[in-house]
Amino acid sequence: MNIDNSTVVTLHFTVSTTEGTQIDSSRDSDPMTVLQGSHYLIKGLEDELEGKAKGDAFSIDISPELAYGERFDKLVQSVPKTMFEGMEVDVGMTFRASTDEGEQSVMIIDVTEDEVIVDGNHPLAGVTLNFDVEIMDVRKATEDELAHGHAHGPSGDHHH
Ligand code: ZN
Repeated sequence: MNIDNSTVVTLHFTVSTTEGTQIDSSRDSDPMTVLQGSHYLIKGLEDELEGKAKGDAFSIDISPELAYGERFDKLVQSVPKTMFEGMEVDVGMTFRASTDEGEQSVMIIDVTEDEVIVDGNHPLAGVTLNFDVEIMDVRKATEDELAHGHAHGPSGDHHH
């Protein structure tokens, strides 16, 4: 069976930067199961899966526009430290914030005497990613999965 938008794909993946730094991998645990066409995966990877079958393996570099987007300097902002009154603020902390573009996840990238510098870019924005993928299984999606817009696990019978 070939992958299209009526199928659920179970796959193992390792994602790295093009310099070879590993970011994430499914290979230490269970493979990932996804409904093709649901946009759960980044576009570049979903596009590459189209038409592939169980047993296929591939490695692909995916540019930012087909992954987590470009970085925007305007998403780096400084906030008065007084807004964090009573809170621990440390570099690397993430939290949800209301911005002009709606709710988004921001990360603290610097803390000065009276300012906190936050970055609303996705941590992988602007990064070309290498995906090393092995397709473990491809099956027809159930009607429930298609209606819900997501996979229900390897066998399709997960209730939630
Ligand atoms: Zn569901």
